[in-house]
Amino acid sequence: MSDIDFVIRNARLAGRKDLTDIGFSGANIAAVASNFRCDAPELDAKGRLATPGLTETHIHLDKAGIMSRCTLCEGTLAEAVRETARAKAAFTAEDVYARAARVVEQAIAHGTNRMRTFVEIDPRAGFRSFEAIKALKRDYAPLIEIIICAFAQEGLTNDPGTEEMLATALADGADQVGGCPYTDPDPATHIAKIFDLGERFGVPVDFHVDFDLDPQGSNVPAIIAETVKRGYQGRVSIGHVTKLSALPPAAFAEKIRALSEAGIGLTVLPATDLFLNGRNADHLVPRGLTPAHLMVAAGGNATLSTNNVMNPFTPFGDVSLMRMANLYANIAQIGTPADLDVVYAMVTEQAAKMLGLEQRQIAPGQPATVVLFDAETPAEAVATIAPATHGFMAGRPSFDRPTPRIFRPNRD
Ligand SMILES: [Zn+2]
Repeated sequence: MSDIDFVIRNARLAGRKDLTDIGFSGANIAAVASNFRCDAPELDAKGRLATPGLTETHIHLDKAGIMSRCTLCEGTLAEAVRETARAKAAFTAEDVYARAARVVEQAIAHGTNRMRTFVEIDPRAGFRSFEAIKALKRDYAPLIEIIICAFAQEGLTNDPGTEEMLATALADGADQVGGCPYTDPDPATHIAKIFDLGERFGVPVDFHVDFDLDPQGSNVPAIIAETVKRGYQGRVSIGHVTKLSALPPAAFAEKIRALSEAGIGLTVLPATDLFLNGRNADHLVPRGLTPAHLMVAAGGNATLSTNNVMNPFTPFGDVSLMRMANLYANIAQIGTPADLDVVYAMVTEQAAKMLGLEQRQIAPGQPATVVLFDAETPAEAVATIAPATHGFMAGRPSFDRPTPRIFRPNRD
């Protein structure tokens, strides 16, 4: 054990009752065993759950933290798009970087170490947000892996210049391309153009789609058809898709079967879906959240994610993905440990699958990327919104969060 340079003692691994030690050698895990002897510096995990960390599949760093610049009257999706479009015309690269860095640091401190962020690129945003997020990705690489999806939030066929700007971004560092057919008067052409860009640059595609509660008028069949036609199975994800929550069980089961067969992943965004949907109801307001865990149970790929933080789409957020998992479980009425394990998978293994990232484990030979949560099991971590206490990325400390101290009265 002489090559070990750091040890996490008394950690708990998912699925194991006994405590274990995790030895790092440089950027990798060299040993996972009980009570091995070595003189390396150590951290006592005190029985906390050791995980590879959380993966955020869908967040908007560029437009986070702008509530003070916006006015909320309706609380609708249309108002959120309108208000954000107005605000982003005044974004500077420095402004975007500062707001995004705050969000990224909150995410890191809550145990997230991989994330896909959308970045709006269009004639109003220019490339200012893109340049800022590229710099952020580079600066924070030792702490978190960031995937950039160049995104057409306000449409394509109605927005001259956006398509060419997305191509420029894809040639200059964007990792994926994302569309938003619900803001385009010609959704079918919008979808085809996003796939064209994906194929041209050889990158995955994503769509913000079906973001209302009318079960009619879905754009998902067009996305499925393009995916199959172009052989894009496994490289397509769709977000929100709240129309699915308006379907009765048999129709819902048929839709998730069709998505799974086409290799399309589904992301739900609990905070935003709850905040913006059902604005027409004055009582018994619909939840507007698609039960995506049922897609995992049926063998498909589904995740849940943060989406927006402190903006007109979601005027809330502390960037805790574990809190979002807990919110999802509560809305979806999930309470058993086995079902909570599925919710945990939606921010870990399922999320990695969606982004095409390797599945990670706490095991010898794996990167020494470890996040400790103050819980004994993944299900308990979701149920209690367990705080992340320590993080390491490739053997390097990424954060710590001191445990609160309670000053109990003297019992003598
Ligand atoms: Zn989004």
